[in-house]
Amino acid sequence: MTVTDDCTQRYPQTGISVLIVGAGVAGLMAALECWRNGHEVRIVERSGEEVTTGDSFTIGPSATRAFKHWPKVAEENEKIAFAPSLAFYTLSGDRVTNPNHIEYRQEKGSKKVPGQITRHWRPQLHDMLLKQLHAIGVDVEYGCKAVEYFERSNTGRGGIVLENGDRVEADVVIAADGLRSHSTKVTLGQEIRARPTGQAMYRTAFPMEIAMADPMVRERFPVVGEKEGPIEFWAGEHYHFLVIRTPDIMSWTLSHKDYESATESWSHKSDLEDVLKITATIPDWPEVADRLIRLTPQDRLLHFRVMWRDPQPTWVSPAGRIVQIGDAAHTYIPASGNGATQAIEDAVSLATCLRMAGKTEQVRWALRIHNRLRFVRVSCLQKLGLVNLKSYSETPKKDKFTPKGLHYLTAEWIWGHEPEQYAEENYSKVLDHLQRGTPFQDTNIPRGHVYRDWTIDGLLEMQERGEEIELDGEWE
Ligand SMILES: Cc1cc2nc3c(=O)[nH]c(=O)nc-3n(C[C@H](O)[C@H](O)[C@H](O)COP(=O)(O)OP(=O)(O)OC[C@H]3O[C@@H](n4cnc5c(N)ncnc54)[C@H](O)[C@@H]3O)c2cc1C
Repeated sequence: MTVTDDCTQRYPQTGISVLIVGAGVAGLMAALECWRNGHEVRIVERSGEEVTTGDSFTIGPSATRAFKHWPKVAEENEKIAFAPSLAFYTLSGDRVTNPNHIEYRQEKGSKKVPGQITRHWRPQLHDMLLKQLHAIGVDVEYGCKAVEYFERSNTGRGGIVLENGDRVEADVVIAADGLRSHSTKVTLGQEIRARPTGQAMYRTAFPMEIAMADPMVRERFPVVGEKEGPIEFWAGEHYHFLVIRTPDIMSWTLSHKDYESATESWSHKSDLEDVLKITATIPDWPEVADRLIRLTPQDRLLHFRVMWRDPQPTWVSPAGRIVQIGDAAHTYIPASGNGATQAIEDAVSLATCLRMAGKTEQVRWALRIHNRLRFVRVSCLQKLGLVNLKSYSETPKKDKFTPKGLHYLTAEWIWGHEPEQYAEENYSKVLDHLQRGTPFQDTNIPRGHVYRDWTIDGLLEMQERGEEIELDGEWE
């Protein structure tokens, strides 16, 4: 085991070569963790350079715990993570509830220390991972768009074809290329169907100094202190408006029902005038909110269409050389609050499973074991997205409003999970389960939950009939 300033311990080399496609959160974390677990790493990305757009997301302790192996990352994470306080408002900007920090909840008898929910600005988190990867001598190869995935059973290798026709191969190909990954043509034989949820969001983040140029905005949304990150959640029947701010960044999101001009893309730009046309229809919408919207740099405004996808149990190609992680394997709607967390958990779990495999001949089992260890857990969190979405549509009532969804998301089965330890402890059990059919019981899901296949359509039909979505077991 090697110890360096960058990494508390690097495992002995396994000789397994890994090609990672996509340098988003999942891909960068997979690159770091695969390196730490002793594998040879190469990472390619379609963009010509690092993409620094995006606003914020929640990352839970089950993911950030992995940073402890990377002292500089852990230190930087302390600086960039912020613990938001949440307060509900009406759509005319009147406060309904007092600001509250959101605490994770602890199970009876648990020894784990819960802490508060924290959020990250995506560009800062991305930059932190990228710098660490560079420091260990692995650089992202930009301008490399994968257009096809393949695997060869004769050589036992997987690979990709790049847009320029070049072919790149490795023992394992990790598809971390996010929404609409080309890899599903190999893993499932088809693309995954995505359907509109009926919701779209205008969203942006930009430097605080731009927002502070308008005196009315400055007075209503003053600069906050270090480590503070108030979230104002303006909730109404058809719209949600969120304002999130830290000392240096201002961000707002407007969720609305009309999604026609939006696309499910993190690069689709939009027009501020379209946002103002919507806010002009909201009764008592305050001028200060429009003034904030008008300050948004035009190239920072996204119009994101929120889409559903059914859970996909298969993330591994038939010959076991290609595996999907992050959004390529499972997408989340924002109400699940778990896209980045589960992407990081995937990266840790997969790198560990490959170390447990130890040699290239066992790789195909490692990928299947990882898939089996993770699928039920991520599908439970996808299901919570549906439950939560409904709860966020409730109108806040004075001093009594905590969306049920938020309550579910603070449960210990979510934040307490340790993906590396889980993979180490369960690797052989799942190998037996897959090879000999011995029973395997997931323990990274709500206790007592029994997984049954479900679809978005099925759950929506239940909601339309006025039935509760069944959450069997201990989800809270
Ligand atoms: C620019 C950007 C901004 C985002 N902003 C937010 C945000 O503000 N809030 C939020 O909640 N989520 C945001 N997300 C999504 C969020 O990062 C993910 O949902 C989550 O972190 C899971 O990460 P992922 O690595 O699986 O996917 P992503 O973070 O989407 O990363 C996928 C990566 O793969 C690359 N890629 C795609 N296709 C190919 C290809 N064919 N060949 C090579 N590379 C490819 C993409 O360019 C991207 O870098 C953003 C994603 C991106 C790419």
